[in-house]
Amino acid sequence: MARILIAGYQHETNTFAPSLADWAAFTRGDSFPAFVRGAAMVEQLAGINIPVAGFIDYARGQGWTLLPSCWAGAIPSSYVTTDAFERIAAAMVDDVRKAGSLDGIYLDLHGAAVAEQALDSEGELLARLRAVVGPGLPIVASLDLHANVTQRMLREADALVAYRTYPHVDMARTGARAGELMARRLKVGRKEPMHARRLPFLIPLNAQSTWTEPARSLFEELEVLDREHGSVSSFCMGFPASDFDECAPMVWSHGARAESAADALFARAAQRTQWQLDCQPARDAVTQALALAERSPKPIVIADTQDNPGAGGDSNTTGLLHALLAQGAGRKFPGRVALGLLFDPAAGRAALEAGVGAELPLALGTAVPTFTGEPSDPPVQGRFKVLAVADGVCTLKGPMMTGLTVRLGPSACLEIDGIRVAVVSGKKQLLDRELLRMVGIHTEQMRVVVVKSSNHFRADFQPHASQVLIAKAAGPMAADPADLPWTRLPASIDRRP
Ligand SMILES: [Zn+2]
Repeated sequence: MARILIAGYQHETNTFAPSLADWAAFTRGDSFPAFVRGAAMVEQLAGINIPVAGFIDYARGQGWTLLPSCWAGAIPSSYVTTDAFERIAAAMVDDVRKAGSLDGIYLDLHGAAVAEQALDSEGELLARLRAVVGPGLPIVASLDLHANVTQRMLREADALVAYRTYPHVDMARTGARAGELMARRLKVGRKEPMHARRLPFLIPLNAQSTWTEPARSLFEELEVLDREHGSVSSFCMGFPASDFDECAPMVWSHGARAESAADALFARAAQRTQWQLDCQPARDAVTQALALAERSPKPIVIADTQDNPGAGGDSNTTGLLHALLAQGAGRKFPGRVALGLLFDPAAGRAALEAGVGAELPLALGTAVPTFTGEPSDPPVQGRFKVLAVADGVCTLKGPMMTGLTVRLGPSACLEIDGIRVAVVSGKKQLLDRELLRMVGIHTEQMRVVVVKSSNHFRADFQPHASQVLIAKAAGPMAADPADLPWTRLPASIDRRP
C-alpha cells in the first residue's frame, strides 16, 4: 500500500499590494483554513471543495496511506515574509525527514506565491523537498489557475496540474486529478515526458473568466486535446501582478505525446488580441447600472475589481461607495443597493457594541496606497444606521469552496442614504451570497450589488443577476497589468495595454 505524504501552501502574491503575508496571516484563517499540522489536517480539510480534499478522497479510493504534514494558506496580499515561508518550509521538510519510507508526496500549491527571499517560492519549496527525498520519489502538485509556473517548478516536480475553471469551482476535482497523475507516475515508475511553453504577454484577470470567451472554448479544447493525445494538460493564465522574471501564462502537458498537445494548446492560447479587457470607470459603471436596474428583473452586479482581496486588495477602498452616494443610488432604490465586503474592523466592533437600530458617526473605509502613486478615495464620513450585526462566522454554500467555514469577526449591515454596506473584520473575497446573507442582505432582493471581487463572484452571483459590469475604482490591484510599475519583468514579455 503506497505511503503518500500530503501538504499545502497557498498564497497569491500581488507584489504591488499594501500588506505582507506574515505568519499571523497564515495562522488566522479568516479567508482560508487556518494553519494546521498533522492528523488534524485531514479532519479539518476533508469534504471541502479545495484541492487537498479532492486528493484525500482519491487516495482513500486507491487504499493509499496518507501522512498529513501541514497546510498553510493566507489571503492574497503582498510578499510572503521570510519568517512565514521558512516556518512553512521547515515544517514540511521536517515531516518528510521523519516520515520513514515514502512512495510519494502530494502538494496543494497555489503557484503564484512570492516570498521576500525566494521570488519563485513554490520552486524553492519543491527543490528543498527534492533535496531530502532524492530524484526518484514522485512529487505531484496541484496548482491554482493563476499560478505563474516556473521552469524550476516544472523541473523539480514529477507532475503539475492546474484548475480549469475561473471562478474556481473545480478545486477538489483538480486535487483528484493530481491523484490520477500520482497513480500514473507510480505505475510507470519514472517521470513522464513533459513539454511546456510560456506565453509572451500577461492576461488581465477580468479577461480570464471561463464563463466568457475565449477561455470558455479554450478549456473545452484542452479536454479534447487530452483525449486525443492521452495527455494531462494545463493552462495557467497567470497572476499578472507578481513582479518577478517568470510572471506569465504557461501551457504544459504530461504524457508520451506531451509536445504535440502542448504545442497545439499554445497555438490556440497565444493569439494576443483575443484577450480583451472590458471595464469602465466607477462613475460610469454606476450610471449604467442605475439605468439598467430600472428595467431589469434581477440585480445588476458591479465588480469592484481593483480592490479584490482575492488579488491583493485589502477590501477597504471607497471609490464605488462614493460613486453610489454621488448619484443618489440609495434614494432611487431605498434599501435595495448593497456593497460588500468592506473590511473595517473598527466599524464592525462599533456596530456590534452599539447594536441594531443605533446610528453611528463613522469614517468608513480607508485610503490606501495604489499602483498609480496616488492614494485611493477617502473614507466615507457620515451617520450610518446599524441594520444587522453578526459574529462573522459563515459556512459557504455556493459552488466555490463549498463547505468552508470562514471567520470574519464582528460584522454588520450599515445603511447610509439608502445604501447598505456589509462590513466585516476579516478579509474575504465576496464570492458567495451567504457572506451577505449573514448580515441580512439578500442579493435577489437588491437592484444593484457591488462586489469586491474580479471573477469569483460569478459562480454564485451571476445566475441571479441580470447583468455584470466591471468597474475600475482606485485600488491596489491593476485591472490592466500594463498600468503596473514592473521592475523585474523580462523584455520578452509584451507590456502593451
Ligand atoms: Zn486563482
